[in-house]
Amino acid sequence: MPRYSQNSISEVSHRNNIVDVVSSYVKLKRNGNSYTGLCPFHKEKTPSFHVSEDKQLYYCFGCGAGGNIFDFVMKMENLDFVDSLKFLAQRAGVTLEEEKGGYTQNEAEVNLKQRIYEMNVVAARHFVDNLLDKNAKTAHEYVKKRMLSRDTVIKFGLGYAKDEWSDLCDFLKEKGYTEDEIVSAGLAVKNEKGRVYDKFRNRLMFPIINVRGSVIAFGGRALGDDPAKYMNSPETPVFHKGRNVYNLNHAKQYGQKDGLILVEGYMDVASLNQYGIPNVIAGLGTAFTDEQAALLKRYASMIYVCYDSDSAGQNAALKSVDILSSAGNKIKVVQFSGAKDPDEFLQKKGAESFRKCLSQALGAVEYKIMRLRSDFDLTDIDGKVAFVTKTAEILATIENQIERDAYIKRIANETDISDAAILTEVNKIIYRTSQKQARNEKYVQQNETAADIKAQADKAQSTATYKAERMLLNIIFFQRKAFELAKEELSPELFSGEDNKKLFEAMLSYKSETAEAQASGFLSYIDPSLKEKAAAILYREYECDSVQAAKDMIKKMKGELMNSKIKQLAKEGKVEEVNALIRKFTVRRGL
Ligand SMILES: [Zn+2]
Repeated sequence: MPRYSQNSISEVSHRNNIVDVVSSYVKLKRNGNSYTGLCPFHKEKTPSFHVSEDKQLYYCFGCGAGGNIFDFVMKMENLDFVDSLKFLAQRAGVTLEEEKGGYTQNEAEVNLKQRIYEMNVVAARHFVDNLLDKNAKTAHEYVKKRMLSRDTVIKFGLGYAKDEWSDLCDFLKEKGYTEDEIVSAGLAVKNEKGRVYDKFRNRLMFPIINVRGSVIAFGGRALGDDPAKYMNSPETPVFHKGRNVYNLNHAKQYGQKDGLILVEGYMDVASLNQYGIPNVIAGLGTAFTDEQAALLKRYASMIYVCYDSDSAGQNAALKSVDILSSAGNKIKVVQFSGAKDPDEFLQKKGAESFRKCLSQALGAVEYKIMRLRSDFDLTDIDGKVAFVTKTAEILATIENQIERDAYIKRIANETDISDAAILTEVNKIIYRTSQKQARNEKYVQQNETAADIKAQADKAQSTATYKAERMLLNIIFFQRKAFELAKEELSPELFSGEDNKKLFEAMLSYKSETAEAQASGFLSYIDPSLKEKAAAILYREYECDSVQAAKDMIKKMKGELMNSKIKQLAKEGKVEEVNALIRKFTVRRGL
């Protein structure tokens, strides 16, 4: 595991401007001292995402996401710290110097991740060897039955998990991995009695590889009568189902030119590839997430949703369409008949027919209207009215007015209901939605940030004290005089919130260790769990006589703590301690 010098890290952060980096993902508008745009981490229509060039920080007043340039890249690109450092170093042409005793983020965690990445490769090779073994008859029969060619098996690195309890565990232990590591990698399971056994047994194995080419997890297709047909690795330090997509490592190169075809199963991916259609990806067994949708937006000019033809598949398609479009993806929905899934369709009808389905794929709105149409009886007046009312809800979501009008005309023709009536209905819905949205956004603003709301609920502390402490921390961080004062007069125990206390302690040690004390550097320095809180505090600007404000606040905090302690001690009748306490907190230096 390379370690990089603090010099390299500050070099990288100096040579990359957060405004430029964020701009390549988010459209930013200059707004006084900062830049604003639509938050890439939550859905919104009015911008609450702010970037400060001075402080080199970003902060979202809507969802509370915040951090420095490394945090942004880590979150956007789904990288760990070291990879985000490399990413930004490459962007700015900085050569990273490795160093003994240099800085790595949370070393134990980074090391475990590294071990898991390596172990996954070892496991993948072992599964491949198992499949090559001439005794692996069940697996061979299955591969033959699904008509997977040798090339496909090799391209996807397919393997075989034997029908045994500890085949993989024994192998990995021999290679020097501990049981705990194997369990952390999700390759083994520990039962209540503490016995460790293989997670995947008697399955055809599909390694799941991320866009950077690392094996991050496995999916296994049952070969026996296991009721769980497909099984995936659990969440591990290197694998988050909701943030990855199967086969994007291969398919990403085609995404901009041809778009990507989203299917439900690994077998569909393999099958389409075999029929000469390589731009295919699949979700990872759970409902499609916003993060997956955002990931695809970076790699695909168009997404063809091509789910199973049964009602479960079509309902899932409807959900994915919504999630993909709210992340800003262009979408078409592929319809096919006479087969339950794309794999079977190709076997029965071949690649040409499939390509024809692709070219006839429906737009998202078309698809939704088509689904609705089948729910209503359009020969009947009531049926027509109900259909138009429901359809109006879909039409109200179309942003482009010309497109919206075109659909209204078409529905009017189809149902013999006037386009004026449909337009009125659509406009009513648009109005109601925007009212609701304005209310929600106002609510969020009134309550400051989501992070604040959570913190307040967690600690049930008074909002006023909490806010004042945050302001104090901001002033201490940016104003040298206020910092000197706080160093003398403020002890961590005076903070009412645990997080504020930790942040203050971190500020003290950061400022004593580092010559240049910058907000973005501080964020790399502190515990990751405190980052968003720190960004929320440091992002703000306070216009006031900061040293005086700090004095007042410290005085108040001392008073509050002393009062509560005195009350407690007095209750217990400890007069001596009460006196000692008063002496200890006696105001010094004109405070
Ligand atoms: Zn946000």
